[in-house]
Amino acid sequence: MCCFRRGERGTTLPKRPGWRGRGGTLGVLLGLAVCPLWAQTPKGGWATFQDASRRLGIIGCVWEDTSQLFTNATQRIRFQNGQKRAEVNGVTVWMNHPPEGVTSNTWRIAVRDLDFLSLAILPDTEAEKPKNLHVLLDPGHGGMDVGAVSEAPFLQEKAFSLAMANRLGPLLEKAGFTVSYTRTNDVALSLSQRAAMAKTVKADLLISLHANHAANTKAVGFETYVVPPSGYSGTANGSRRNAWRPGNNNDFQSTLLGFAVQRQFCASQTNRVDRGLKRASYYVLRETSCPAVLIEFGFLSNSGEAGEMLAETWQEAHAQLVADAVTRYAKRIEALDGAVAEKREADRKANEAWRAKLAQRNAAKRDAGQVATQPSKRPSSSGGVPQRLAAPFPLAPFPSNDDHDEPAAQPPPPRPVAVERGTNTAPLVVGRLIDFYMKENPDK
Ligand SMILES: [Zn+2]
Repeated sequence: MCCFRRGERGTTLPKRPGWRGRGGTLGVLLGLAVCPLWAQTPKGGWATFQDASRRLGIIGCVWEDTSQLFTNATQRIRFQNGQKRAEVNGVTVWMNHPPEGVTSNTWRIAVRDLDFLSLAILPDTEAEKPKNLHVLLDPGHGGMDVGAVSEAPFLQEKAFSLAMANRLGPLLEKAGFTVSYTRTNDVALSLSQRAAMAKTVKADLLISLHANHAANTKAVGFETYVVPPSGYSGTANGSRRNAWRPGNNNDFQSTLLGFAVQRQFCASQTNRVDRGLKRASYYVLRETSCPAVLIEFGFLSNSGEAGEMLAETWQEAHAQLVADAVTRYAKRIEALDGAVAEKREADRKANEAWRAKLAQRNAAKRDAGQVATQPSKRPSSSGGVPQRLAAPFPLAPFPSNDDHDEPAAQPPPPRPVAVERGTNTAPLVVGRLIDFYMKENPDK
């Protein structure tokens, strides 16, 4: 919804032919510029405060200028006005769309976020015995791809992630789970190989293990990523709020595991910074057939945190926390599977339709590209290549220049030295892709 309305614009503009049209265009542009983007309707629509109260069991509300605290006997949720960042029982959780409104009559939340909260994050009932799951551990990077690096103390992300996998695997086995690894030594694997392995070994879960890096050397803390649902961009600063990207049909399950990991970390480490359960369309999360999370254990760009991460006791303690989170997940997953079966099937159909459409478009672009490489009989202003082929999106599906994403078919341009790795930036290529997706999205 926009704060400009057509009728109002027409009455305030000069009546002369020509001016009105130009003024109208200007009005729309101004409207887009000044309208808060978060005022847009989220995909799936809004739920009112009354809906939320019923589904979350809210019995107490504190309405403040910049935030709202909702409580019941066992739960506390604090939302921030116009912010995706929320706090659920002491754990930071990033919403897919910012809630808005400051009174019970005006407050509202995206239906999709209410679904995640009420079905995946808040339910506390658990089975006595954890479900027997096959967990695929994915130590990030490897071989020539060293990942993030701390110089002092010296620690490479590829070695850290492998060490974490080697500590976590036996703990999971001890807890009764079956464990596989995407790599057990210092080899390079493509992201598509990692994602494909989940299907090959018939994994029930994929856990990708990473360390963070930022240009700001003061950045510290842990965060866990899951893929955004279709129709939503990531939660990182700078993500386009109205982007349309394909998700997968494990959103609820991945959310359950992601929250379990953050919850375990928060419960045991009050001295560390909780950066939250976040969402990003990383390749291994998006293209894996089973529920998947990506854990950023800490920042190698902060020498203090890197020093802690190097310690065996630190690594062992954090591996145990992740193993405990998997156990918690395994005790809740059957109830969740039952509760979201219909929604999951709807997600599957929607995603398949979207991917089929995008594959069709990519094939058409490839064909057009092949034609365009033939010698042109007539020179044109664009050097013989039709202008529309010069669109800045690559042909491979969903690539970006993010560290956790599959490289594009063509070598990407050199990366600026100061690029922040992975967490809080929206790469330019993703931005351009999103523009493309938006044009292709019939719902926009
Ligand atoms: Zn990494």
